[in-house]
Amino acid sequence: DRYPEPQFEPDPSKKTLVILGTGWGSVALLKKLDTENYNVVVVSPRNYFLFTPLLPSCTTGTIEHRSIMEPVRAILRHKKAAVKFYEAEASSIDPDRKVIKIVDNSEIKGATSETEIPYDMLVIGVGAENATFGIPGVRENSCFLKEIGDAQRIRKKIMDCVETAAFKGQTPEEVDRLMHMVVVGGGPTGVEFAGELQDFFEEDIKKLVPEISPHFKVTLIEALPNVLPSFSKQLIDYTENTLREEKIDIKTKTMVKRVTDKTVEAEISRPDGGKERVEIPYGLLVWATGNAVRPIVKDLISRIPAQKDSRRGLAVNEYLVVQGTRDIWAIGDCAVAGYAPTAQVASQEGNFLGRLFNNMAKTENHEARIQELSSKMNLQGGNSAEAAREIESLEKQLRRMKDIKPFRYSHQGSLAYIGSEKAVADVSWWNGNLATGGSLTYLFWRSAYLSMCFSTRNRVLVILDWLKSKAFGRDVSRE
Ligand code: FAD
Ligand code: NAD
Repeated sequence: DRYPEPQFEPDPSKKTLVILGTGWGSVALLKKLDTENYNVVVVSPRNYFLFTPLLPSCTTGTIEHRSIMEPVRAILRHKKAAVKFYEAEASSIDPDRKVIKIVDNSEIKGATSETEIPYDMLVIGVGAENATFGIPGVRENSCFLKEIGDAQRIRKKIMDCVETAAFKGQTPEEVDRLMHMVVVGGGPTGVEFAGELQDFFEEDIKKLVPEISPHFKVTLIEALPNVLPSFSKQLIDYTENTLREEKIDIKTKTMVKRVTDKTVEAEISRPDGGKERVEIPYGLLVWATGNAVRPIVKDLISRIPAQKDSRRGLAVNEYLVVQGTRDIWAIGDCAVAGYAPTAQVASQEGNFLGRLFNNMAKTENHEARIQELSSKMNLQGGNSAEAAREIESLEKQLRRMKDIKPFRYSHQGSLAYIGSEKAVADVSWWNGNLATGGSLTYLFWRSAYLSMCFSTRNRVLVILDWLKSKAFGRDVSRE
C-alpha cells in the first residue's frame, strides 16, 4: 500500500524551485513546503539528513551513525507532489542566466556526471566547511567533526592509537604520544567531543586495555581565555571545573600555530603578557575551530556587487533574500542574518521560507482568480453579484496574506553535553533565563535531543543504542 511513488513531471505552468542541501535548513523548508505549488528540485551530495547534535556520540560508538541519519528519499516520499532529488554537488550558480551547474562527485559516475539546472527560485542551504585559518598541517593531519565520515574516521583512529600503544615493545614515550588525544577548539563541538572521549576511556577502554590506561590523556586547547564562549559565565565555570574533575587538561589562551603528523605547535599567552611556544605530541588530533565559507558561496559572493563586503557568508535581508539578487534565498550556516550558525537558527529559517513560499503561491493563485473573475464580470457588464462577492473575499484574504512579517529568530536555549553524564543548559524559562548544569540537566539534554530527532525510527534507534552501550559497553572493534 506504500507504492507507487509519485512521479516527478515538471509542470510548465509552475515555477521551478531548486533547493541546495539536505541539512537542517533545507530539510525544515521541505517539511513545511506544499510541494504541489512548485516544481521542486533538491540537489545535495548527501542523500540523507544528519542530526548533528548527536554526532559527537558516534565518535565513540555510544550511538551508531545510521541511527542519526534519515534518507532524503524517505523524507520526500511523504510529500503531496513528487520532488526530484539529485545526489550531486552544486559547483556554481549563475544568477544572470538563472542556472546552476551540478556535478556528481560520488565514486560511481554515469555517462553524464555534470549538467545544468535552470531555476526560477533558488534556495541555498549548503552549510559551511571547517575553518583551518590556513594553519599549516591542519588539513593533512587532523580529523574534523562535521559529517558522518568524520565520526567514523575518529572512531577508527581512537582504537588504532590504543591498539598501536599496546603493541609489543612500544617505548613509554611513544605510548604517551599515542594515548594523547588533542582537541583544538573549545566551542561546543570540542567540549562535547572531549567529554564523550573521556567517558569512552573511563567506561570501556580502561577495562578492556588496562595496561595503557595510565597513559591516556585528553587535552582541550582553546585560544580564548575560556571554553564555551557563547554560554553564561556560571556555566563556563561549571564546565571547566567538571572537565578538570574528569581529568581533561584544559589549555586556554593557547593558539595552535602549526601541526605536523605527530605534534601540535602552540603559542601560550602568559599572565605577564609574554608568549611561550610549546610542542605537544599527539596520537589523535581533532580540529573543531568553527566554520568557514564554502567555495560555491565564495564564488557567488564574487559575482554579486552588493555582496562585496560579505566575509562570513551570503548577506540576506529580513526575508532571507540574498542581497543584490531577486530570486535567491539563503538559509543556515551559509547565510549571514545576524544569528549564530546553529541548527536551531537554520531550521527556523527553513520553516520561515516554507511558509513564505506557500503564501506566495497562494497569493498568485488568488490574484489569478481575481483576474479571471474580473474579466468574466466585464464580459457580463459587471452585474454578477456572486463574482463581486468572491472578489471581495479574495481581496480581503490577499491583504492578510501579503502582510507577511519578516523572519525573527526565537532562541529556545543552548545545550551541551560535557561528559560523565552531565550537561549544561542556558534556556529561556518563563520570560527569563535559566542556566543549569549537572545530572538532571543531562536527562533534560537526552530528552530534548530525543524529541528533536527527525523521525520515530531515529528516536527508537538512538534509545536502543543508549541501552546497548550501557548494558554491554561500547563496541571497540576497529572496522
Ligand atoms: P548543514 O546541516 O551542514 O547542511 C548543509 C547541506 O548542504 C548538507 O546536506 C551538505 O551535504 C549540502 N551541501 C554542501 N555543499 C553543497 C553543494 N555544493 N551543493 C549542494 N549541497 C551542498 N547546532 C545546534 O543548534 N545545536 C546543537 O546541539 C548542535 N550540535 C552540533 C554538533 C556538531 C558536531 C556540529 C558539527 C554542529 C552542531 N550544531 C548544532 C550546528 C548545526 O549542525 C549547524 O548549524 C547546522 O547543521 C546548519 O544547518 P545548514 O542547513 O545550514 O547546514
Ligand atoms: P565555535 O566557532 O563555536 O568554536 C571554535 C573555537 O575554536 C573558538 O572558541 C575559537 O576561539 C577556537 N579556536 C579557533 N582557532 C583556534 C586555534 N588556532 N587554536 C586554538 N583554538 C582556536 O565552533 P564549533 O564548536 O565547531 O561550533 C560551530 C557552531 O555550531 C557554533 O555556532 C555552535 O554554537 C554550534 N554547535 C552547537 C552545539 C550545541 O549547541 N551543543 C554543538 C556543536 C556546535
